[in-house]
Amino acid sequence: MLIIFGGTFDPIHNGHLEIATKLYNTFNQDITLLPIGIPPYKTSPVTTPHQRLDMINLAIQSYPYLKVNTVELDSDEYSYTYKTINIIRRSVQPTTPILFIIGYDSFVTFDNWDNWRDILSFCHLVVVMRHGYVDDMLSRELKTFCQDKHTDDIKMLKNKPHGNIYKINFTPQDVSSTNIRHNIVHDDSYRKYLDGNVYKYIVMNNLYTKSLI
Ligand code: ATP
Repeated sequence: MLIIFGGTFDPIHNGHLEIATKLYNTFNQDITLLPIGIPPYKTSPVTTPHQRLDMINLAIQSYPYLKVNTVELDSDEYSYTYKTINIIRRSVQPTTPILFIIGYDSFVTFDNWDNWRDILSFCHLVVVMRHGYVDDMLSRELKTFCQDKHTDDIKMLKNKPHGNIYKINFTPQDVSSTNIRHNIVHDDSYRKYLDGNVYKYIVMNNLYTKSLI
């Protein structure tokens, strides 16, 4: 089984680490962080790919079950999830289950992603709830698509390579990278949302100091 956690990680925060740890404890499998290179649907990250990778590597030092895949970071092209997951799918046995973790705020826009339906033919989705959201915000089309794919059966996810949607019953702490970017320079209390070495890196490299973030 492969468990992939895609994100901008600008910067990686304790909410990300909490999600990855929860998934590790649930499935007893290492988690691969997949930092996005050039987001096709969001504004570009504030920091460079190199800086985001540095921060991820610092954060995961004390988490032996977290790995990082730089295929999107290393590419000059837009990072489309359907393309990347397809590449990963082809690199493993057809019977190997792949889980892709997605927060509810991203899941509500899932049907705007390019070739979103195809993604389920490469992997399962694990949806994580997010503070401020209620589980009733999907478009009719997405709801219909999900209907026959929902499962609570972890055993099935471990035995089938792709095609199901599993909503994990937990809501991580209320933190976002946007909030950290906006506040970390002026409000020291935001450091509690970051790994200590990531915080030091941000300070040493003067990250997130510009107002337009
Ligand atoms: P931004 O504020 O820049 O959008 P973010 O905090 O959402 O950043 P990302 O790196 O974009 O961080 O998130 C990666 C994935 O993790 C997304 O699917 C997102 O929904 C999810 N996620 C991040 N933080 C949380 C959180 N606190 N609770 C639930 N899901 C989260």
